[in-house]
Amino acid sequence: MNILTEKSSTTLKSTVWRKTCFLSEFSEKAASAACLMGWLHDRALVPDPTFGGIVLRITLRDCSGLRDFVVTTKPFIDLLSTLEYESVIAIKVLGKEILDVKILARAKPAIFSPKVITDFSTIDLVVHRPLAIRTERMKAVLRVQDQIFTSARQFFHKEGFCELRPPILSPATDPGIRGAIGADVNFYGKKYKITTSMILYKQMAICSLEKVYAFSPNVRLEPVKTRQTGRHLAEFCQIDVEQAFINYHDAMALAERLLVAILSDVKSNCQKELKLLERSLTIPTRPFKKLTFQEALNILSKAGFKQLQQRKELPWEAEKMLSNTFDEPFWVTEFPYGSRGFYDRQDPNRPAVLRDFDLLYPAGFGEAISGSEREYLYPRVKKRMLEQGLPLDEYSWYLDMLQHGVPPSAGFGLGLERLTRYICGLENIWEATAFPKVPGVHSP
Ligand code: ASP
Ligand code: MG
Repeated sequence: MNILTEKSSTTLKSTVWRKTCFLSEFSEKAASAACLMGWLHDRALVPDPTFGGIVLRITLRDCSGLRDFVVTTKPFIDLLSTLEYESVIAIKVLGKEILDVKILARAKPAIFSPKVITDFSTIDLVVHRPLAIRTERMKAVLRVQDQIFTSARQFFHKEGFCELRPPILSPATDPGIRGAIGADVNFYGKKYKITTSMILYKQMAICSLEKVYAFSPNVRLEPVKTRQTGRHLAEFCQIDVEQAFINYHDAMALAERLLVAILSDVKSNCQKELKLLERSLTIPTRPFKKLTFQEALNILSKAGFKQLQQRKELPWEAEKMLSNTFDEPFWVTEFPYGSRGFYDRQDPNRPAVLRDFDLLYPAGFGEAISGSEREYLYPRVKKRMLEQGLPLDEYSWYLDMLQHGVPPSAGFGLGLERLTRYICGLENIWEATAFPKVPGVHSP
């Protein structure tokens, strides 16, 4: 890490205030003074006979971590010992000696500062986001997420996929969002939707590029009670993938390669972060175990889950129980006809099942991926939409597109925050993103 390409003058004239290095790079052995900038994370007056009785120990924080300094000069002690936590300061340091101090931004008193946060499961982390984002724990999570972005991009690039910028607004979006509602915006007098998933656009894009992916933001206004699941956000991001001319088994194999690539990169490149999060990662072996939906139902009813409906997706409590019985990610395939979005392809030889899949994380973390082979022929899609009572006129551009030659394809959406939550071993999904929107919670 190096913040300045050109190091500032070694003499550091007292008028020059320019950050010369991160806290983690600062060395007491350096021959010239350093100018450091960061947040006042902590401080304590401590007795010290060598410096006239009392010194001030301060902890500074910047993006590289925390670092302690001892302030021995009376005017600086006076200045800093009354300054509120989280104020932004600059110090000039040579060896152990603090040569100068400047306050860059005074903070107001806060009951919720990174120094006092010990309960990482509380919803206060969402409400007091501007302070909560500053914790060392949150930084570790976001650095892991950064590695996920990098690894996914490298993986797709190697496999010949093209990254798309995802759509945010659409006259019509994915209706298969079990129990959640979509959000509308007024688009020049017409009601448009905020993307709930870019499935319809993925089918458009493969007609040009065949292998596509995107980091796609989705808004699904989930019922408030889903807050208890630990894995529902009202705004989230999917790594959305689609490939022409492959079947659902190919799509599952692709997802397995992607997941293993990401997990392996995080394991080797984010050791410091995983240690801070007290998480040890195991890399699953490919191919992952596969259960059909019917096999999953059998396991669940043996475990005492009654009234599981044949034509519905698994309720999240059942999914969690199932997830708890495995110690590696596993597939549930072939959901029953009638249980999912109109775009999951009905098996032509077994009309009762769909050629689709979910991936579940082990240890109670639950759903990771949903995907399928797609319905791609106009008459079939129209039939499925009518069966689901969808207003065909809303989907006019999509239905029109299907009459211009759309190929068979398969793909999936991998929830970015759920993956982050799993990798980091977090209890709540709102810890797995920088700016969480939790169902029913008003927050930044
Ligand atoms: N549209 C699906 C979802 O959001 C993912 C997919 O099938 O690509 O669950
Ligand atoms: Mg799903």
